Amino acid sequence: MNIRTVETFVVQSKLKKPFVTALRTVFNVQSIIVKMTTESGLTGWGEAVPAHVITGETVGSIRYAIERVLAPVLIGEGVARREVLFEKVQRSLLGNSSAKAAVDMAVHDIFAQHCGLPLIQMLGGYSDRLTTDLTVSAGAPKEMVKEAAEHTAKGFSVLKIKIGTGNFQEERVRIRAIRQEVGPDIVLRLDANQGWKPKEAIRIIRQFEDDGLDIELVEQPVAANDLEGLREVTRHTQTLIMADESLFSIGDARRLLEMRAADLLNIKLMKSGGIHEALKINAMAQSYGVECMAGSMMETAVGVTAAAHFAASQPNVTRTDLDAPLLLAGVFDCGGIVYKGSVMEFAGGLGLGFDSERMKQWVKEYANE
Ligand code: MG
Repeated sequence: MNIRTVETFVVQSKLKKPFVTALRTVFNVQSIIVKMTTESGLTGWGEAVPAHVITGETVGSIRYAIERVLAPVLIGEGVARREVLFEKVQRSLLGNSSAKAAVDMAVHDIFAQHCGLPLIQMLGGYSDRLTTDLTVSAGAPKEMVKEAAEHTAKGFSVLKIKIGTGNFQEERVRIRAIRQEVGPDIVLRLDANQGWKPKEAIRIIRQFEDDGLDIELVEQPVAANDLEGLREVTRHTQTLIMADESLFSIGDARRLLEMRAADLLNIKLMKSGGIHEALKINAMAQSYGVECMAGSMMETAVGVTAAAHFAASQPNVTRTDLDAPLLLAGVFDCGGIVYKGSVMEFAGGLGLGFDSERMKQWVKEYANE
């Protein structure tokens, strides 16, 4: 079961509409798909995305990291000795978390296939389905209300609203209008993507509380590196505060948890460097009584399928923000996860559950070399 080849392919998918957050506006999603094969004939798949404002990675850096740094240390190694593989990956390259995630997904895919199990079962098999939220991207209040209404009409009962781009009054108007439109039964979670200063965040979130807007949680209200500021917001508001951009590694998780800087953690494989580290972060969070959400970047169904296997396998992952494939215009019909409205099911099959022949076609069809 030694690794024989590690290849990368750049694919590009169009978004149904431009995606606006406090950090950036995105029109297309570029991904680097990893195909790993073993001498015994198994094929594993993974994905990395150049979310440079978050991870610092670009298409060029990811390809270089995988092809020139990670592939040489992985080729010839046995997939069964995963701790050896992942130690080599960590030691050979600092940072580059999504490049590492892509390789980690492929290794997990292959190992689960070798074990004759879907990955979700190999990881813990807690649940066989997930319910995802759906994102309302930042925009004019009218647009956001319309989008929120469209989402709930399609059966989504949890909306994630991107905010943090406007001033205090604008934010208030937006969220009030959305709550009024969707009614009291829809769960609203907000993502400020580092858009506020700590005191500003406290003021705005308290205002939402006073307005009775019943916000489930607010994600990353302040700058990623301002853990003290994040803790201030967590201490001085009633609403649950979730760390996202502040959390990459297990070391970040330890600091956040020791400081009690957030009530919840958002684990994304592209930040943790894959499933191997994500499991450790989740276990550590669980020991502090802190629940996790599984999220993703703007990814295709390849990366999101890996995130879904991780998320559904663990009881402490209690929230799912894996709607990225629903925001893409193209069709992904290669196995993995299947969306039925807001419910995500697994198509079946071993490992991540991809059909390798169809994956090869898909990679060709969406190639962006
Ligand atoms: Mg976020």
